[in-house]
Amino acid sequence: MIAEVIIDRSSKKLNRTFDYNIPKEIEDIVIIGSTVLVPFGNAKTLEEAYVVGIKQSTNFEVKDIAKVKHNLTEKQIRLAKWMSKKYFCNVSECIKLMSAPGSKRKNEVKEKTINSIYLAKDIEEIEFEIHSGKIKSEKQKRALEFLKENEGATVGEVEMFTDCSNAILKTLEKNGYIEFVEKKIERNPLENKEVEKTQKLELTEEQKIAFDKINASIQENRYEEFLLYGVTGSGKTEVYLQLIEKVLEKEKTAIMLVPEISLTPQTINRFISRFGKEKIAVLHSKLSIGERYDEWNKIKEGKANIVIGARSAIFAPTENIGIIIIDEEHDSSYKSESSPRYNAKEIASILGKHGDFPVVLGSATPDISTFYKATAGKQTEKTISSDSNNKNNAINKNITLLTLTKRANNASLPEVEIVDLKQELAQGNRGVLSTSLYEAMQKNLQDKKQTILFLNRRGFSTFIMCRECGYTVKCKNCNISMTYHRFENKLKCHYCGFEQKVVTTCPNCNSNKIRYFGTGTQKIEEEVNKIFPNATTIRMDVDTVTKKNSHEEILEKFKNDNIDILIGTQMIVKGHHFPNVTLVGVIAADTSLNIDDYRANERTFQILTQVAGRAGRERIKGKVIIQTYNPDNFSIDLAQKQNYEDFYNIEIALRKQLKYPPFCDIIVISFTGTNQKELISTSEYVYKYLENKMDKQKFSIFRPVPSPIDKIQNKIRWRMIIKGKMTAKAYEDINECLANVYSKSIKNTKVWADVNPNNMV
Ligand code: ADP
Ligand code: ZN
Ligand code: ZN
Repeated sequence: MIAEVIIDRSSKKLNRTFDYNIPKEIEDIVIIGSTVLVPFGNAKTLEEAYVVGIKQSTNFEVKDIAKVKHNLTEKQIRLAKWMSKKYFCNVSECIKLMSAPGSKRKNEVKEKTINSIYLAKDIEEIEFEIHSGKIKSEKQKRALEFLKENEGATVGEVEMFTDCSNAILKTLEKNGYIEFVEKKIERNPLENKEVEKTQKLELTEEQKIAFDKINASIQENRYEEFLLYGVTGSGKTEVYLQLIEKVLEKEKTAIMLVPEISLTPQTINRFISRFGKEKIAVLHSKLSIGERYDEWNKIKEGKANIVIGARSAIFAPTENIGIIIIDEEHDSSYKSESSPRYNAKEIASILGKHGDFPVVLGSATPDISTFYKATAGKQTEKTISSDSNNKNNAINKNITLLTLTKRANNASLPEVEIVDLKQELAQGNRGVLSTSLYEAMQKNLQDKKQTILFLNRRGFSTFIMCRECGYTVKCKNCNISMTYHRFENKLKCHYCGFEQKVVTTCPNCNSNKIRYFGTGTQKIEEEVNKIFPNATTIRMDVDTVTKKNSHEEILEKFKNDNIDILIGTQMIVKGHHFPNVTLVGVIAADTSLNIDDYRANERTFQILTQVAGRAGRERIKGKVIIQTYNPDNFSIDLAQKQNYEDFYNIEIALRKQLKYPPFCDIIVISFTGTNQKELISTSEYVYKYLENKMDKQKFSIFRPVPSPIDKIQNKIRWRMIIKGKMTAKAYEDINECLANVYSKSIKNTKVWADVNPNNMV
């Protein structure tokens, strides 16, 4: 018998099968899905490979498979092949997502603290240096490849999984690729949890209707997709808990996805206190690889039948799923922004369809496209044809809408006030706090209540300009403004981390009229400390949240030490419960409106609604004050009224008029590199190829142009955009085009495609 295998390497040229002979003695254990070791090319060591097909004979002269390791299922291999077409990536990259984290692991005893390794540059940069041949040592490359997926692995783990010596790691550290971080480890992430048991609550009428509909589909083993749409506190989680109970009664497994940032002890505790910790496995990127390996096995061996995790937990190794729940389904973290660029919601649909179980999406502010499918969008689209199974074809099916309109524990929604900053200015108030917000904060301090101030911009000043000649200070590696950080007294680039000394005279005209504009979280903290000298404050943003000082710890400190004022970015928005917070101030609601993205309104509405949801979740009524220069903008106005449906109606009409998703897809083909000539000729090739192949009645194909941020870390960035509804043929054309590009001898340029990416800059 002959096996068709895919070599486990990310090289684009190796995204094809190779034939190997299956020796007689292992014939009955090699199946589709097996991981095997094979001799490959001139490599001295054996290569890991995946069996994706088995046949009687081959026309080639073939070598023997050397060894069989663990197995994946045929179903998983089918999914991986489908993903590789749909997300324009290698089959082996998809298989990796489904395989146990690491495989050579020995049992080892771990100390209380351990030296973990983190990447010191961003992944893109490292991939680029591997790709462009800057890193030559195979061992170094292996260690970096490994760390890309297993940041936080211990020194021992890296040595063991990659066969690298400590000396190699030291070299990588010296050359600035990795850093060692001393950290405390907890072998079993749930080990020390003692949580009081909770009983299920009697469901409200609305909860009951939702529960019954979904439960019917669990009991009938039927695939159906639901949108559970309900304000924060409307009791969605209670519905999930009771559905999971039904799934466990059927001896099946429940997968519950939450955004990475809300994967907090509080979230997990709610599940533990209902079901006990033995049944629960937690999967996320903060676990060490050893912990992840254990959790993975707990699922595979059927010991844990509730999986809670971030995006990649959708690939948890269980064959009898009874439900997949995706909470905060609008969250952008469900779509991967690095290869494979998959969307966990799409994978959930496919798994549900093949496994005959329901998929539940939950949100207070659903993704516009999801709500469209749950209301107006009665379309059944053919998207991509897979090898054999046409069940995969229609992934855009309808969604059943279930609504929770009331808060479950009778807490009232907070009062939201909008303050027009233009009027404040007209009245001579140039400070960061409007009169209204100032007074509310003062009252809150007197009442010993806590306040949260939200601003979506870190640092102190956001741009630095010469008033004489208009020169702005930009990063020398990236084409974007530097941000002033007062505490460190430095200018920093938020894209590449480049730092430079403060500028006082203009590098262009030598004038000393250099001025610092804009407001960041640091400046807010300083102002607040001046205005309220007796108040305690804490700041949470990318600068204060480090690997050692997690956002979880900052929030715990805010809560437990009863700090008066928390000042933070985006990170404060999600999933936390602060009983003593009664006031939330949004310093400038406009920041997310000005982003260069068709989702700017949607993002603004979601952020403001979620921030508002942080106030007054208990009996005390909360207040939210939103400061803005655009009080008439509909996303701000309707966030004030907490009116998702009116927001949706306006936004969907705009999307239709301008032809944006869900009415079409936006395909972005990206090019990065340092060799401009090669990059441009590659992009021209792609453009001409697709322009020639694709149906111009259905697709608008735009010329390659520099990206809005056209340089990051000295790499030129270009992109081309295609607008239209994706079809099976369009997927084929783009895949074919990329395969052609990869087979040409492009040394310097990286090319990839993504459908509806999160990030458009
Ligand atoms: P969501 O997930 O929509 O934010 P939760 O499930 O967290 O809502 O519920 C909010 C609060 O209401 C929680 O404190 C929860 O215990 C309570 N709650 C939920 N359902 C009920 C119910 N049927 N009866 C009483 N309290 C409930
Ligand atoms: Zn100047
Ligand atoms: Zn930079």
